[in-house]
Amino acid sequence: MKKANIQVDLLEHMGSDISVVNSARVSFNKQSYFEYDDDNPFIQYVSDKDCKLIKYLVDHNHFTPFCHAFLSFRIKAPIFVARQLAKHQVGLSWNEVSRRYVNSEPEFYLPDYWRKSASNVKQGSSDEVAPNNEGFMVGTMEVMDDCLDQYQCLLNAGVCAEQARMVLPQNTMTEWIWSGSLLAFIRVCKLRLDKHAQKETRDVAELIGNNVKTHFPVSWESYMK
Ligand SMILES: Cc1cc2nc3c(=O)[nH]c(=O)nc-3n(C[C@H](O)[C@H](O)[C@H](O)COP(=O)(O)OP(=O)(O)OC[C@H]3O[C@@H](n4cnc5c(N)ncnc54)[C@H](O)[C@@H]3O)c2cc1C
Repeated sequence: MKKANIQVDLLEHMGSDISVVNSARVSFNKQSYFEYDDDNPFIQYVSDKDCKLIKYLVDHNHFTPFCHAFLSFRIKAPIFVARQLAKHQVGLSWNEVSRRYVNSEPEFYLPDYWRKSASNVKQGSSDEVAPNNEGFMVGTMEVMDDCLDQYQCLLNAGVCAEQARMVLPQNTMTEWIWSGSLLAFIRVCKLRLDKHAQKETRDVAELIGNNVKTHFPVSWESYMK
């Protein structure tokens, strides 16, 4: 049985905090540029005036200037996480590996440990390790092996891949390319970094967020404050 981890790779990005600023400043037919450090011309930064503008846009819900910058990710995650993330639709496009066409050996996601449920149902889980964790880990791997055997059996017998996949569990890994506006990914992160979001989905949001923060630091900071 092949295990796999959650993975988020930034494929491409377009724009910067300055393109956010300029999408707002165009209203007055004005344009801004990055400023450069006198001592080190390789260090560029957004002027105080432009930082304030970005914060103003966020505070007053002028969101369209954040829709001109784009990011594109290739993400690998279990199906139960992908299903949650696919609910975010506005400003985003999603193309995914199809197990109708692909019948390679599936990979499975396994948590580091089974978490105990939380006393508050909205919280989903606590950080505590559930009782008999190791026993359940072994049992789970046996179930995965059984699912995999049955999947291979069906394929070997000539059953079509689009039906054989029915026996694969929700922790089967899937992969998709997810592209969209800066605003859309900030919205995903705001909702999925919340402590009420599922931990595994939060893991994906954190990896997406790291990339957004790197390339759009002022916009990220202004939305996440
Ligand atoms: C912690 C958590 C728990 C959740 N639990 C559940 C659950 O139990 N069951 C479930 O089904 N979903 C659940 N969801 C998913 C949730 O209901 C949303 O579908 C998901 O968060 C995507 O929200 P979004 O605002 O990014 O949606 P998008 O569809 O990407 O919309 C983006 C924005 O566009 C606007 N918009 C979108 N559609 C419309 C519309 N029809 N009319 C007007 N404006 C619109 C809204 O401002 C919206 O915020 C949960 C989400 C989170 C974060």
